[in-house]
Amino acid sequence: MSRRRSRPRQKAPSASPAPSSLPLSPGAPCPCGLPAPYADCCGRFHRGPAAAPTAEALMRSRYSAFAVRDRAYLLRTWHPDTAPERLEPDPETRWRRLEVLGATGGSPFHNEGTVSFRAHFTERGREGVLEEHSRFVRHAGAWVYLDASGAS
Ligand SMILES: [Zn+2]
Repeated sequence: MSRRRSRPRQKAPSASPAPSSLPLSPGAPCPCGLPAPYADCCGRFHRGPAAAPTAEALMRSRYSAFAVRDRAYLLRTWHPDTAPERLEPDPETRWRRLEVLGATGGSPFHNEGTVSFRAHFTERGREGVLEEHSRFVRHAGAWVYLDASGAS
């Protein structure tokens, strides 16, 4: 019996999209700035099924998701009322450092919380800072990002 060899059609390499996420080794320092390897810090939330226990942990994990361009995580931790339909992080933006300035509520015993932070980035060679006061709520038991206001 001879088997006909059928060649699966190969995609031309040029047709494949750019990698959607930035590779980050599990032992690398977590982008959120906590003194822990990525895999033990925000990485375990990105992988699931572990969920961030506090609003601040969720905020840190979302910052890290921007840093590694984990769009799926960003969308699933966004409140459905305010989430965008698509998310296209600017590939030119490199997230450099996160400073958490303060937080209210957001503990395992709260249903709402806020986190103020500064996120430092570089974009096309220029440095910038995003300062935000983010609101988080519990949705179906898990913390999600609701909305934000700028520096006040
Ligand atoms: Zn982290």
